[in-house]
Amino acid sequence: MPSTLGTADVPAGADAGTAQAPAVLEVANLVTRFASPDGEVSAVNGVSFTVGQGETLGIVGESGSGKSQIFMSVMGLLAANGRATGSVRYRGQEILNLPRARLNRIRGSRISMIFQDPMTSLNPYLRISRQMTEVLVHHKGMTASAALEEAIRMLDLVRIPEARRRVHMYPHEFSGGMRQRVMIAMALLCQPDLLIADEPTTALDVTVQAQILDLMRDLKREFDTSIIMITHDLGVIAGLSDRVLVMYAGSIVESGPVRDIFYNPQHPYTEALLKSMPRLDDDILGELPTIAGQPPNLQHLPTGCPFRPRCVHAFDRCVTDAPALEPFYRGRAKACHLEAL
Ligand code: SF4
Repeated sequence: MPSTLGTADVPAGADAGTAQAPAVLEVANLVTRFASPDGEVSAVNGVSFTVGQGETLGIVGESGSGKSQIFMSVMGLLAANGRATGSVRYRGQEILNLPRARLNRIRGSRISMIFQDPMTSLNPYLRISRQMTEVLVHHKGMTASAALEEAIRMLDLVRIPEARRRVHMYPHEFSGGMRQRVMIAMALLCQPDLLIADEPTTALDVTVQAQILDLMRDLKREFDTSIIMITHDLGVIAGLSDRVLVMYAGSIVESGPVRDIFYNPQHPYTEALLKSMPRLDDDILGELPTIAGQPPNLQHLPTGCPFRPRCVHAFDRCVTDAPALEPFYRGRAKACHLEAL
């Protein structure tokens, strides 16, 4: 594989894995900062990418890498001390910093989000039937009885057994995995164009996690929904994503088709993440390699490359020059001074 700039068709600094299908979401030069007593913290530093129709984009990174803050910015859910600049276009319409009322019309109907903790989205005091039908009555103008039938159909679709009976239960009456399914059903009620899933399976055991990922694959096939899957676990996105962005210290450090990222990583951080993934053929008694050191303090980034203190390949230039994200092969980009790994 060529390691220098070649046939790539995207500008430097952009996400090289630009989708072929028409873009559902286009994020350009997104910067998210938070005010703190010790000064400003940059959580997202000029991130750009697109998501095409029916495409699944995986976004991977350790906690604090900025991956979740991108979508809190996109959805207008930043904490009061946060501020986002740049551009976020949903089907060509600028939505970054839209007034709340206009954003609410898009959020929940055209773009839905699911979180690690279903209780973030579910009201513990209301029956599932009420929570689901209210969305349909409000966003789709359905009658209460039509909305209830649709809610039951969606619970069936996410494989909740006895949906017609269980739709009248409260969230706490479901197991963790079932609650996650309910949340997915709620997120899909208005058949969104784009589903953003932030660590949706992290709190679940491995078997339930596999079931939820299977379910998301089926839903993607059935509705042609675009999905953004945010996770710290490369294993979660392996079987689901078309493309992957790897985030570190608020920036994209590598992007490309999922197979390329898995079989031929070209950024030392991606390589280290892959090495720290458990594999079936690993000696189960052996220790899994971890990435040495800690993610950087975003208020005091090291000079040069932010990954330098943890990078086993660092050399002189890495101390002084911060590498930009540059395309290096069709659909691929990396932010690293090395010609090739
Ligand atoms: Fe490592 Fe240098 Fe590449 Fe940064 S630029 S990832 S320090 S080799």
